[in-house]
Amino acid sequence: MNLNQTLIFGHKNPDTDAIMSSMVMANLEKQLGNDAKAVRLGNINKETQYVFDYLGIETPEYIADIEDGQNVILVDHNEKTQSVDNLKNAVVKKVVDHHTMNFECPNQIYYRSEPVGCTSTVLYKMYKEYDVEITKEVATMMLSAIISDTLLFKSPTCTAEDRAIAEKLAKIADVDLEAYGTALLKAGTDLSDYTPAEIINIDSKLF
Ligand code: MN
Ligand code: MN
Repeated sequence: MNLNQTLIFGHKNPDTDAIMSSMVMANLEKQLGNDAKAVRLGNINKETQYVFDYLGIETPEYIADIEDGQNVILVDHNEKTQSVDNLKNAVVKKVVDHHTMNFECPNQIYYRSEPVGCTSTVLYKMYKEYDVEITKEVATMMLSAIISDTLLFKSPTCTAEDRAIAEKLAKIADVDLEAYGTALLKAGTDLSDYTPAEIINIDSKLF
């Protein structure tokens, strides 16, 4: 791998926010002139696959570990137990997140975390701050992440800001928020391909 290219990834056992926010962040970095690529630390679940099928785009490459000195950006997590196994060998350049902070870093870093329902809500604000265009595709990715993390605004972690931004994104994405959101969440509940053991592990995170 190219050490000068920054790898951007969400947590292990990735959910829709972990995957979509890594791609949305990679696009932001590229628009700002930085060489960056989204990768993933685990399998794509059915809900997330729905977004890839809807957009007709490829999933990010899977990586098992990183090389020493690799530049990375973490999205949708900050704890090393949820990250790539050899994170200590990486150079973490930025973190964009919405979870409780449990992160130490020996050098200066861009660390952005807000108490909202979804990483993509934070990323929407960053796009606005940097005046980077939110295309229909990027809007669909951000919107999907917000719908997923807030369970279509029903989760207790959902804020008024998540909802207001999702409504703006639905216009750009040109979708009916309720219809698209319901279809996305329904795709995630299709368990037909799983074994009972896999079903138990679907939503488990490493603590
Ligand atoms: Mn997540
Ligand atoms: Mn999230």
